[in-house]
This record gives sequence, C-alpha cells and structure tokens, in this order.
Amino acid sequence: MIEQDIDDADCLRRRRFLQTVAGGTMFMTCLPLRTALAGVQVSFDDLSVLGPSEGQILLEVTRTLFPHSFLDDTIYAQAVRQMDSMSSKDAAQADQIRVGLELLPENFIELDQRRREAALDEISDTVFFKLARRTTINAVCNSYGRTHDVPNLFISDGSQFCSSGAAPPTLTIVTLAIRQAEHIVGQLKAGAI
Ligand SMILES: Cc1cc2nc3c(=O)[nH]c(=O)nc-3n(C[C@H](O)[C@H](O)[C@H](O)COP(=O)(O)OP(=O)(O)OC[C@H]3O[C@@H](n4cnc5c(N)ncnc54)[C@H](O)[C@@H]3O)c2cc1C
Repeated sequence: MIEQDIDDADCLRRRRFLQTVAGGTMFMTCLPLRTALAGVQVSFDDLSVLGPSEGQILLEVTRTLFPHSFLDDTIYAQAVRQMDSMSSKDAAQADQIRVGLELLPENFIELDQRRREAALDEISDTVFFKLARRTTINAVCNSYGRTHDVPNLFISDGSQFCSSGAAPPTLTIVTLAIRQAEHIVGQLKAGAI
C-alpha cells in the first residue's frame, strides 16, 4: 500500500479541477501536494511552435492540474508536446495558449501549489484552461498498462483504454495484454520490478 497523506480539502479541489467537459473524470487520485517533485529535467528547445519558456510554464500548469508524487517531468512534458503539436496544426490554438499564458501571473512558476491553483482558478473559464486540462488528463497508466502511482501494478484488461474504444475491442485488449506480459518478463529479468 502506498502511504497517502490525503487532505480532504485538497482532494475536493482536485476533483473540481479535473472535472472534464467530456469523458468524465479520468484521474481521481488524491495524493499529497508536493511541489518539488521534478526528478528529470526536461528541455523544450525542440518545440515546433511554442518557445522553451512557454513550454516550462505549460509544464507547471499541467503539474498543477494533476499534482502527483510519482510522476517526473517527462510525463508532464508529453502533455506540453501534445499542445505544441496541436498548435503546429492550428494557429488559433497557439494563439489561445499564448493568451492563456499571458493571463497567468509572471511568477507563476515560482508560486507554491495553492497559489498556482488559485491563479488557474481565476482563468478556469478560458479556452486555454480547458485545453490544458483536457490535454493533461489522458491516462492513469503508461503505454504498458503500468499505473503511474503504483510501480508494480499493471492493468491488463479493457480498463487500460484511456477513452471508450470502438467495437470490437477484444483483439486489441488481448494484443495489449500480450505486449504487456512480454514487457513485464523483460523488466523482471532486468530486475527493474
Ligand atoms: C454479449 C457480448 C458480446 C460481445 N461481442 C464481442 C465481439 O463480438 N467482439 C469483441 O471484440 N468484443 C465483444 N464483446 C466485448 C468483449 O467481450 C469485452 O470487451 C472483453 O471481453 C473485455 O475484456 P476484459 O479482459 O477487459 O474483461 P472481461 O472479459 O470481462 O474479463 C474480466 C474477468 O475478470 C473476472 N473477474 C471479475 N471480478 C473478479 C474478481 N474480483 N476476482 C477475480 N476475477 C474477477 C471475470 O470473471 C472475468 O473473467 C462482447 C461483449 C458482450 C457482453
């Protein structure tokens, strides 16, 4: 069991933040707020439309939307890169992101979690906020079905789908399970799990 220092008020606020417009709330984990979590530093020099500093602020936006003690920056960076990719296909989205970033306090990155949440709360009815939240909330497990918050817990059935699938799903479920089993064998042999 993972020790979870759950604060009811934080949990409620998190749930409100993560209420999605479509698809329901995917992440309902209520873990302690820890802001100094960045294990692996990521660089956004290679973004195609957004700048490196915009990428860093977006990273902190996604971390604020989904604060999680087990995720390093590389996971949050995926959401940032997805927003950059969307921006490269749609200039209007790039504009919306930039407008949203302008609305945040200049020192957003330096703020503690609660102040960041308050800043995001202020702009929670903007297109930017909804876009960032939608992009951040996408999966409870990685591409091998391993849950982000419990290192040795793998989801092998249809519930690893991050959205509703198209029928018929069984072959996809079985294929993912076989791929996952091979991955677990490799990880066990390597002593990684
Ligand atoms: C009538 C019907 C027709 C379908 N036709 C098709 C089709 O033609 N093609 C297609 O691709 N898909 C079809 N599907 C969908 C397909 O069956 C499911 O998507 C698929 O079986 C889901 O696989 P799963 O491993 O996620 O869950 P499941 O197949 O439901 O497996 C879950 C397993 O966990 C077991 N279990 C549950 N609780 C516990 C517990 N507490 N402890 C231990 N074991 C537990 C259950 O007994 C079950 O064996 C159909 C579904 C239905 C209902």
